[in-house]
Amino acid sequence: MEGLHYKSLKTIRVDIEQDIISNIAEIKSSKNNYWIAPGLVDLQVNGFRGKDFNQEDTNIEDVELITKYLWETGVTTYFPTLITNSDANIRHSIKNIVHAFKEKSIKETIGGIHLEGPFLSKENGPRGAHPLEFIQAPNWDLFCKWQEIAEGKIKMITLSPEWLASTAFISKCVDRGVVVAIGHTAASPAQIQEAVAAGASISTHLGNATHAMLPRHSNYIWEQLASEGLWSTIIADGFHLPDSLLKVLLKVKPEMTVLVSDATKFAGMKPGRYHSHIGGDIELDQQGRLFMKDSPDFLAGSAKSLLDCIENLSNRQITSLAKAIDMASIKALEAIKARPSFGLEIGKKADLMVFEQVEGKINIVQTIKAGKIVYSRT
Ligand SMILES: [Zn+2]
Repeated sequence: MEGLHYKSLKTIRVDIEQDIISNIAEIKSSKNNYWIAPGLVDLQVNGFRGKDFNQEDTNIEDVELITKYLWETGVTTYFPTLITNSDANIRHSIKNIVHAFKEKSIKETIGGIHLEGPFLSKENGPRGAHPLEFIQAPNWDLFCKWQEIAEGKIKMITLSPEWLASTAFISKCVDRGVVVAIGHTAASPAQIQEAVAAGASISTHLGNATHAMLPRHSNYIWEQLASEGLWSTIIADGFHLPDSLLKVLLKVKPEMTVLVSDATKFAGMKPGRYHSHIGGDIELDQQGRLFMKDSPDFLAGSAKSLLDCIENLSNRQITSLAKAIDMASIKALEAIKARPSFGLEIGKKADLMVFEQVEGKINIVQTIKAGKIVYSRT
């Protein structure tokens, strides 16, 4: 394939042998005005285009469909995210995802399961939309049962370290290679520090799922921002965080910030009124803002793709396009310590997206997963 290297802006030809980038050569000109970049990596996806991993009626085919929809948006690796739910529903959701692993390209695209809950804060604000009835203290035996059903595929867990049992729980997860993220938390600064010392390494959607009011000096946001051991994931969809806060977050951790979509099933759907299994009656407007119908000031989740978040950061000139892409690809894998085989370089895994830019819009032309074209624009 030919196009502009997303970072060097040089015209290149990329050769692929089997699943590896075998050569990248500079060429004088290209037959098209395409761009080539690493495929996107989304650490937090609840659903897409009408399908949700967390719904009781979701089946194996839905997992395959979500994966295919995500390929259309340039994603080559993602982490299906299961939120707080009953034991039975979490088991059901895990089984669906594990069964979908039978198909090779889907198996390769799913990096692992991200379990966001149920070991979160019970407080309103930090809890977000997670159902209170199922929130509980970290429970190692329960986690091990889920991990057994998942055949070891739970690779990331978001929890709140405000629970007494959390430090031991975090250490055990980290020992077994599960990445621990802090999120939906009302933890004290000391508890945040203890969690980091125990091995927590990411802040999940920092700045969201918080109290509306916080003590000005001593609070869990400052503490996480100040911690050099913590990466941040952020939802840069244009609605979840104001531009000023996005700029600050990026300035504090320019090399340790990752974009996530946190997309719900309403991402990729037409504007309109819908009913959500956790949010009740909700509305999606023309701009893609998803909010509670009766309380329009409150968001009801994200309805944007990771590609939309890149577009938003780049169009608002909060970061360059190349930096936004890195934060949504290479950096995401680095944050979970899985980077070495990935990137637009010779010898790396051929996970790529080819796109064109038309008036601030990024249109995916082709998505390549492990050397195989999994999406091609018709
Ligand atoms: Zn969340």
